[in-house]
Amino acid sequence: MGEPISVEVETTFDAAHRLMKHAGKCKHLHGHTYRVLVEVYGRQLDPEQHVLMDFADLKAALKLVVDHYDHALLLNYQDPILAPLRQAVPGLRVATFEDQPTAEIIARSIKFNLQRIIETGKREIIVRRVKVWETPTVAAIA
Ligand SMILES: [Zn+2]
Repeated sequence: MGEPISVEVETTFDAAHRLMKHAGKCKHLHGHTYRVLVEVYGRQLDPEQHVLMDFADLKAALKLVVDHYDHALLLNYQDPILAPLRQAVPGLRVATFEDQPTAEIIARSIKFNLQRIIETGKREIIVRRVKVWETPTVAAIA
């Protein structure tokens, strides 16, 4: 065991969403270029490569996760617009959530799904922090 060390990678994806119970303008369907920063952490480097996790491998894992949201419609599964939209648009690209598709919920979802697919065979690698910006000035951290 060594000192704790982290690596970070960043990506973006484009998606539409709406917050159906929102009191303000977010109840309207609109889109964002979401910016995503993830931090993974561990105490043991790969003994030969001297990396915690190859940046390319972490980026590939993050891409697998955010590809489900990219150019998709992010909706609460109970949103009443979901059924008529699915009927009107064959092959509608939609990702549904049990909660409102806020930056907080998206950050939690990315954290959970990324941790599931990261190879943790020999050394423990923990997804410590996922930050999701909805705009350049607001973000949620899970
Ligand atoms: Zn929004």
